[in-house]
Amino acid sequence: MSFLSDLYQEVILDHNRRPRNFGELTDANGMAEGFNPLCGDKVKIYLKTENSVIRDVTFEGAGCAISTASASIMTEAMKGRTLEEARAMFTKFHDMVTGKLEFDPDDEDLQRMEVFHRLSEYPVRVKCATLVWHAMMAALEDQAQAISTE
Ligand code: ZN
Repeated sequence: MSFLSDLYQEVILDHNRRPRNFGELTDANGMAEGFNPLCGDKVKIYLKTENSVIRDVTFEGAGCAISTASASIMTEAMKGRTLEEARAMFTKFHDMVTGKLEFDPDDEDLQRMEVFHRLSEYPVRVKCATLVWHAMMAALEDQAQAISTE
């Protein structure tokens, strides 16, 4: 498929073959699921936060190479971030893949997601990449609610 060769095929295929942070997180305090009916991608996010910092985040699920690579890269990028940084990163990624934000090679957050920087040219595939990020935001909401009801 030409869109994959356009999009740093090797990096995506490597994350797809050996996804980072894959599996259940037994001491998670936030969890959310996402489904992309356009492609069939399914993802579940496990999140562990402590004092408003993301200590750990993992994912499970099955999807296309784009969605798996996106989940793998996203979980790596999120570890050690504050909740505020995580939300800011979501906005940047979302704006980049929907074409609202131009890729900036000097921006460290965007560097990590460089592999997806031309995805806005493939609107059908954008949801594959953003699915896990939306699930991540839902998992953050989930842990916030768990804390406020304690
Ligand atoms: Zn997909």
